[in-house]
Amino acid sequence: MALFPGGKGANQACAAAKLAGGACLIAQVGNDRFGEALLASIEEAGVDTALIGASARASGCASIYVLPDGQNSIVISAGANATLDPTTALSRLETLGSPGFVLSQLEIPVETVEAVLTWARAHGAVTILDPAPARPLPPSLLGTIDFLTPNQSEAATLLGKPCWEIRSFADAQQAARGLLAMGPSAVVIKLGALGCVVATGGMCSSVEGFRVEVVDTTAAGDAFNGAFAVALADGKPLLEAAAFANAAGAVSVTRNGAQASLPAREELERFIKQAVAVCVDA
Ligand code: ADP
Repeated sequence: MALFPGGKGANQACAAAKLAGGACLIAQVGNDRFGEALLASIEEAGVDTALIGASARASGCASIYVLPDGQNSIVISAGANATLDPTTALSRLETLGSPGFVLSQLEIPVETVEAVLTWARAHGAVTILDPAPARPLPPSLLGTIDFLTPNQSEAATLLGKPCWEIRSFADAQQAARGLLAMGPSAVVIKLGALGCVVATGGMCSSVEGFRVEVVDTTAAGDAFNGAFAVALADGKPLLEAAAFANAAGAVSVTRNGAQASLPAREELERFIKQAVAVCVDA
């Protein structure tokens, strides 16, 4: 057994901060040892913690069971995360003025996610939603999203077909088109080792993943999301941003843990350069 700091929001903020040199997280933690450890870990990664509040409930906690092949299964106790209500989140978000990118996930109440993304859109921010953990979402929320970034099972759940195993680029392209019709402006489906599929109103493309030795896939999706937001903020074209995010996900699966497995900018750029060089040699 190993204990390490995580949480999708915290991981994604760390992923972005390590690549961009900063990110601000709006969240709640408990007044307990886990809360202290969470704050220390994300501060070390360069995340601004000024907008994180204390809750009377215990810090959110997840038990993650990792199989020998690196796949994982997660049981979550929301704790303090469940106390981030729309009014609290919006009052903190407003202090940021006009953020360029707002990235959310579903480990906080869904009403809060909808309120935050609606506000962000109305104030000119690009909105990204990682719809994890998997659950169906209302059209009012799906319509506030610029980039929806599910993994295979989250995509299937959103489409109302939780048993559909999206295994190939062709399946994912079909799923992405279905999700686009539900309201988001663009869809990026994460496909584990395969890479991802990117779809907008005008195109649907597959972006191949990088070949690596898998140690632990925990936080691969978080690494992907943080890197994707940073790449878009850097002005990279969409498919290039998806490739950059694939690279961040790939590096993260080569190491144990969540926040500790996220790559820093220099390491990620070196990894991409080496991978491209191998492709050219081959
Ligand atoms: P999640 O962690 O949300 O379930 P995925 O497992 O699809 O999401 O992983 C997110 C991204 O991380 C993938 O789209 C891919 O870019 C990268 N990734 C995940 N697993 C691997 C792997 N085994 N080899 C290379 N890249 C991977």
